[in-house]
Order: sequence, then C-alpha cells, then structure tokens
Amino acid sequence: MPRDNAPAEALLKEVFGFDAFRPGQGEIVDAVARGDNVLAIMPTGGGKSLCFQLPALLRDGVTVVISPLIALMRDQVRGLREAGVAAGALTSGNTAEETDAVWDRLHDGSLKLLYIAPERLANPGTQRMLAQAGVALIAVDEAHCVSQWGHDFRPDYLRIGELRRDLGVPLAAFTATADQETQGEIVQRLFDGVQPETFLRGFDRPNIHLAFSPKDSPRAQILRFAAARKGRSGIVYCGTRNKTESIASALRQEGHSACHYHGGMDADDRRHVEERFATEDGLIVVATVAFGMGVDKPDIRWVAHADLPKSIEAYYQEIGRAGRDGAPAETMTLYGPEDIRLRRAQIDEGNAPPERRDADHGRLNALLGLAEALGCRRQQLLRYFGETSEPCGNCDLCDKPPSLFDGTEAVRKALSAALRTGESFGMGHLVDILIGNETDKVRQRGHDKLPTFGVGRELKRGQWQAVFRQMMGFDLVRPDADRHGALVMTDAAVPILKGEEQITLRRDMIDRATDRRPQVK
Ligand code: ADP
Ligand code: ZN
Repeated sequence: MPRDNAPAEALLKEVFGFDAFRPGQGEIVDAVARGDNVLAIMPTGGGKSLCFQLPALLRDGVTVVISPLIALMRDQVRGLREAGVAAGALTSGNTAEETDAVWDRLHDGSLKLLYIAPERLANPGTQRMLAQAGVALIAVDEAHCVSQWGHDFRPDYLRIGELRRDLGVPLAAFTATADQETQGEIVQRLFDGVQPETFLRGFDRPNIHLAFSPKDSPRAQILRFAAARKGRSGIVYCGTRNKTESIASALRQEGHSACHYHGGMDADDRRHVEERFATEDGLIVVATVAFGMGVDKPDIRWVAHADLPKSIEAYYQEIGRAGRDGAPAETMTLYGPEDIRLRRAQIDEGNAPPERRDADHGRLNALLGLAEALGCRRQQLLRYFGETSEPCGNCDLCDKPPSLFDGTEAVRKALSAALRTGESFGMGHLVDILIGNETDKVRQRGHDKLPTFGVGRELKRGQWQAVFRQMMGFDLVRPDADRHGALVMTDAAVPILKGEEQITLRRDMIDRATDRRPQVK
C-alpha cells in the first residue's frame, strides 16, 4: 500500500529527532493524522505518545490529550516545549500563571497540544472552553482506565465519550492492555460501540528467549540459571520479600554480585539499588514486582521468575525488561502447584467485584496455559495479545519440541477421584487415592473403599502431580481458596469427563517427574 507520509517523516526527524518509526508507529500516525477514529494497542515503552504528538502537528487546531498520570503529562509537555512545540497542561498541579498562559494560547489559537487531567472534564467550564477552542482531535492515553473491571478505573474517563460527541472530532485511544474485554469496553464507552480503526502492534520481542520450567528445587534452579550467565546483568523476580533476601544471599555465596529489592525497604536503600543496577555491570537484583517501574536499563541480559507472576500481562511486562537494546536476552519462569494455589487465593481473597475476579482468573489461566503450552510459546503469547505469528525458533519448546500423549484417560481418573470425594480434597490426597496409598487420612475417610482407589498405579506420585499441574494449567480443576486448596472441577472439564473431548498432555513432563517424596506403604 503506497503511503505518502513524507511530511510525517520530516517532522519525525526535525521535531522529535528520530530516524525512523518504530513498528506500527507509521501506520498509526497516518490514520490519526487522516482524522480516523483509532484504537491503538502497543506495549509499554512501544512509543505511543509519538502517535498522537506527531499527528497533532499535522492537523489544524489543538489536540486535547487526556491522561491520568500527571507527572507523565508534565514530562511530555516539557519535552515538547524543548522541541519547540506549543504545548500546555491543565492539571491540579498548575500554578495560576501557568493556567492563565495556557488559556491565552488557547484563545489566540497557537496551542498545538493541550494535556488535561480527567478530573477537569467534570468541570463545565472546561467543556465550554473546549467547545470554543477549535479542537482538532482528542487523544486518550491509558484508555483502559475507562474499564470498570480493570485495575485502573477512572470514573471521569466515562465523560470522554460525551466530549467526543459534543465536539464532533476524531478520537484516538491508546493503551497497553490487550485483552478482548477491555478492548470491548473501550469501544463501547469511548466510541459508542462503533469499532474504530484498530491497531495492535509491537508486542513481539523476538530477541527474548522464552522458557518455563516446573518448580522442583527453586533455589537450585535459579542458582543454576544464574551460574550459566555469570557476569551478566539480570533480575530474579520473587513472590515474597523474604525470598528476595535469601536468594540474593545465596547468589552472593556463589560469587555473584547480587542485591535484593522490595517495597519494605526504605526509599534511600531502594534508590541505592536502582543506581547500582543502572551503573554496575553484571549486577543481579533479586526483587519483588516493586522493582521495575523506574528501571530503564537497556542491557538487562536475563530475567528469571522464582515464582509464577500473577497474570499473563504481568509476565509479559516483567520479561520485557530484558533486552531492551535488541541484543539476545534470556528468561526462565518457574511454576508449580503451590504458585497456582497462591495466585488463585490472592484473587479470591481480594475484595474485587465478582466480574473483575473472573477476569483476573482468566488472565492467570492464560499464563498457566502458556506455562503448560504444547507448542511454540511466543506464538501462544502473541495470540493472547491478538497478533498472529509463526513458530519463533527462540523458545524452549521450539528448541526442543515436547513429546505429547493422549491424556484423556489419566485426566478422567483424576477428575473422578476429585468428584467421588466431593471435590473437598487437595492434590496430595487425591494422588494418594489414585496410587492406592493407604494413609491414615485415606483410611479414616473410607477412601480406600472407593472404586477410584488405586486405579492410577501406572503412574507415580510425581507423575500424577504433573498431570494435575497440567490440568490446572488448562483450567480443568481449580484449587478452592476457601477450602484449603480443595480441587474443584470447572465447566471446561465436563466434556472430557463425558468422553466428548480428548485432551493432549505433555509426555516429557510426566517422564521427568521423579518420585522424591517417600511413599507410605
Ligand atoms: P509508551 O508507549 O510507553 O507511552 P513512549 O511514548 O513514552 O512509550 O516512548 C517510549 C520511549 O521510546 C521514549 O523514550 C521515546 O522517546 C522513544 N521513542 C518513541 N518513538 C521512537 C522512535 N521512532 N525512535 C526512537 N525512539 C523512540
Ligand atoms: Zn517458539
């Protein structure tokens, strides 16, 4: 398709100082500059702001930018002014002089970009002022804030749709959140349900190697991974503060330069770690998710997860901190049944409304499905974000395609053990029943009399655990947080139980599972 964006490319260089567009930017800039309604989904750091700042310069009138992040707005305004662009902001942090200056430039028509905090939209004066100002375009940053089930809901965002209607101008919405429900809500609330031109670009980070591994001895697994990458900067993400400290000290004992980082440390200590990480070569930071927001180090060579992240989005963001410079980077994510139980419990025990909890379970499911993927992980990850792709050749499953087997029979046995015991028991007890292990608990409950007792002797304990983990990964059973992780069957399991659907499992996961726990005879 021929594109005449010579003026856009000239501005890209002259005003913004960039030689070329990033993936997706050129097309989005064209569409926005043309006056199309646009929804653009790009990952954090993908370069969204350019996609409305540049078109603002190509259109007559002022572009109104709505963003919830005041500090970010101020940054952008400063950057634009330094580049010689007439930009201003109306936020609660303004001085009276600043506000007056913005109004003056708006009245004389010289302002090109006006950043507005969403609260301002509740003010009738703002609406009137915009109606008279000759608005060219509305740009909405962090558009997912309009989603009531999301984590960042901003009630004032609900006013934006009305503003668009009143002004009768095109709207360009930007977000890094790619799930379908959120997209649907954005379309409903900002575009009155009429699908805008939608771009989903730039989620692939082909230089990052993806790998998952079942957690069997997490500390040793992390130490092994780090040993093979000694001297290269990396991040180890942990689920708890204690673990960051213990893994960091274990790494130091192995001769690595490593320190821990978590939200419980005081601000000075945290800043000290951030500074060391930015300037020192080969430092490992062992951290909770508190580490990352301000981290802008391009040459992080690896990221390892000692515990499963909370959602597929969180996973993507955390591994995405590696290899910003485009050079090869590696990742490894450990996961086990205990992680799954913990993450489910965190969702269920939070006080989110039921709809949001369902959405959170869905985001966790997507990550578990990725952990238990049968083929290329990147393909599956990108499919979640809506991009189609070929097998990548740069993930553990492309490196070594897994062996598969028809797991229908095993899964049906496992489901039957759960159902016949009233869906009231956790994995350990169910495995005891399947392998015919007469523990006290089994005998006390009379579970040695069940028809399921001992029907799974063909597999060992560790192998059944691998089956259950995959079942959790496919969301066939869920641990119930209110009942100590009792496994409850989901609707997805019904057709398998009824014999209407088959299920494929990873043979290699079953093969590698060793029996480490002594069996009670
Ligand atoms: P986000 O998508 O998270 O809003 P930004 O718009 O802040 O991302 O852009 C992230 C970084 O990428 C910024 O430092 C910006 O200057 C840089 N950037 C954006 N577009 C380009 C480009 N075409 N070439 C080089 N750097 C770019
Ligand atoms: Zn792959």
